[in-house]
Amino acid sequence: MEKSFLIKPVLDETYPVIEYGKGIFLFDKEGKKYLDAASGAVTANIGHGVTEIIEAMQEQAKKVSFVYRSQFTSDVAEMLAKKIAEWTPGDLNWSFFVNSGSEATETAMKMAIQYWQEKGIKTKIKVLSRWVSYHGITLGALSLSGHTGRRARFVPLLEDFPVINPPYCYRCPYNLEAPSCGYLCAHELETAIKRIGADQIAAFMAEPVIGAAGGAIAPPKDYFKTIKKICEDHDILFIADEVMTGYGRTGTMLASEHWGVIPDIVALGKGMGAGYAPIAAAVASEKVMEPILSGSKSVMSGHTLSANPQSCAVSLAVLEYLEKNKIINKVEGRGNYLKYQLEKLQDQFSFIGDVRGKGLLLGIEFVEDQSTKFPFPRNALITQKMVALAKEKGLLVYPAGAGIDGINGDSIIISPPLTITEREIDLLVHLLTETFEVFSNQIN
Ligand code: PLP
Repeated sequence: MEKSFLIKPVLDETYPVIEYGKGIFLFDKEGKKYLDAASGAVTANIGHGVTEIIEAMQEQAKKVSFVYRSQFTSDVAEMLAKKIAEWTPGDLNWSFFVNSGSEATETAMKMAIQYWQEKGIKTKIKVLSRWVSYHGITLGALSLSGHTGRRARFVPLLEDFPVINPPYCYRCPYNLEAPSCGYLCAHELETAIKRIGADQIAAFMAEPVIGAAGGAIAPPKDYFKTIKKICEDHDILFIADEVMTGYGRTGTMLASEHWGVIPDIVALGKGMGAGYAPIAAAVASEKVMEPILSGSKSVMSGHTLSANPQSCAVSLAVLEYLEKNKIINKVEGRGNYLKYQLEKLQDQFSFIGDVRGKGLLLGIEFVEDQSTKFPFPRNALITQKMVALAKEKGLLVYPAGAGIDGINGDSIIISPPLTITEREIDLLVHLLTETFEVFSNQIN
């Protein structure tokens, strides 16, 4: 093969070249077909090659592809911000558009700090978070991330913002069950606030369903209500990182809606552009914007391509497509159908420890022993093996962490495009079963 100068994730690995995509399938240059049960990285939420999105891109490109936000605004950026305000709960009305999820969480963090500064409080500059979490790869977002593997190389440069355990009921550190546990893992936030001092803390950030770091860990019922109340009691803003869960992935526009909480700021990404364009956002409530609007009148952030018209046109077309085809309403039913079949696989394969998640963001944790929940040895590289075996079968699944530290465990995320049909789910489960059969033969 010709020498490649493209920096890929693993430099000595060969990656298939994708020729085109259609619906939930990708086709490589060798003619191999892949069922994209990961939506890439939980991103291609409406599948590939959707005509309406391609047309919206062409239409916008003919008008103008770039205007600089310090000089101009555009109809599509204005319309997108208005639609997000309509589609999100409460008064999450103000969108700051950026280009990636990492920029969205970092912008959300900065907005929280600025909120307190504008109110005359300069000491509130920390944004606390949880272990077994992922909020992005840039240094600010990595400081928020409780993903030990991704932090490792850069620890001396990072803030130690992750301070509490996640609501990981399968491996509860207290060995208790919700709701009788009293949500001790949420109350850890109260202890951390007392230790650090509420006067130092601007906000607390969490993913409603933990993605890459934990393999689709959904919280028990009143977990987020407890967290929100602790934040309110201590004058701390609550930021939901909905980069993976937003835009309908779990069956509601924001996953926070399932648990009856309205965040002060939300980070969106991935599904916003559904893979057709890079776009993400920090969406702030009226409460957060009020002191900024009556103070400096400018959010201190911005990227050259913020609110790029081409990206905004895509995201607007994605929302319209979701609306026109009533896709978000169908997610719960499809998710339940898929989850039920994954749970059935748990009876067949003893290495499936847990099946979890919400809507079409589902996770499977692998264990050496179902009864003890013992993980496989680290050097067995089970997650990587499972992802590779599935890929061989023509099935794409997303690798994730697991275990109380997010690294001593194995899991995959199953997150097909929200447009997947029941028949396609059956095919997904068939390919996954074949993958598990091969794996089972290898370990027995
Ligand atoms: N936040 C969450 C919850 C994510 O899952 C991710 C990416 O996986 C990010 C932030 C970072 O997004 P990006 O990779 O677009 O920078």
